[in-house]
Amino acid sequence: MFLGDTHTHSRCSPDGRFSMAEMARAAAENGVSDLWLTDHCDLLDLNGVFTPRYDWAPCRADHEEARRGAPPGLALHRGVELGEAYEDPAAARAILAAEPELDFVIGSVHNFRVIMGKRDFYNADYGDLDACHRALEDYLGSLEALAGLPDCYDTLAHILYPLRYMERAGHRVSLFTGDYPQRLEGILRTVAQQGKALEVNTWRGRTVAEWEPILRLFKAVGGEYVTVGSDSHDLEHIGAGVRESYELLRVCGYRYTAVYEGREPKMEAI
Ligand SMILES: [Zn+2]
Ligand SMILES: [Zn+2]
Repeated sequence: MFLGDTHTHSRCSPDGRFSMAEMARAAAENGVSDLWLTDHCDLLDLNGVFTPRYDWAPCRADHEEARRGAPPGLALHRGVELGEAYEDPAAARAILAAEPELDFVIGSVHNFRVIMGKRDFYNADYGDLDACHRALEDYLGSLEALAGLPDCYDTLAHILYPLRYMERAGHRVSLFTGDYPQRLEGILRTVAQQGKALEVNTWRGRTVAEWEPILRLFKAVGGEYVTVGSDSHDLEHIGAGVRESYELLRVCGYRYTAVYEGREPKMEAI
């Protein structure tokens, strides 16, 4: 039975530890049938330093080694999580053009665009609710910019990302208050009209139910393609929350999940 984890990080990411071969073995043990390794390529680092270059060689070598020793029954695919493409779309395009064999590009926003020194939302100081709302204003602007660059992503990643870290700081903030829903709808409509996908990111199995209103909104604006990934950086969470996300997709009226090979969507019945 198909169970695909489309978003995982190996030691080729600055915050990953395991080789792709170890990830592949763990994926098979966790019941995953298809694994996409999508290591980070960020145009801004954690502290907002601009880094518009990427060396593909270590990732390519690790993936080749993993593929040679892949457990039977596991299909391995190659992707990338391309962060902050809107900071320099020409640099982002040049990075992608240098690796034409890629199966999948996850487009992400991890950093502030205008305020807080462009640092990562993970790394920010959320003193009070006002600070959270200023952060979300900035964030939605970045999502709007990224959504309008269809050659820089196949799926729009983890749009709940900053909320994780606001919650960690004790602030529960919703994207369904004030004018956020209208802006979110605009972003999702752009994604849908361009034939791009929306990602359900389970954050290692911790975030599934939270996606329901976003999945319903995406469907309402004509969205068809939804990818599902755990964003696991370790072995035990590969595939975590994927089955539950398929169930949620069905509840929200989707009959397929999208997966990417050669940057083309393929629908898998769920
Ligand atoms: Zn990410
Ligand atoms: Zn990730």
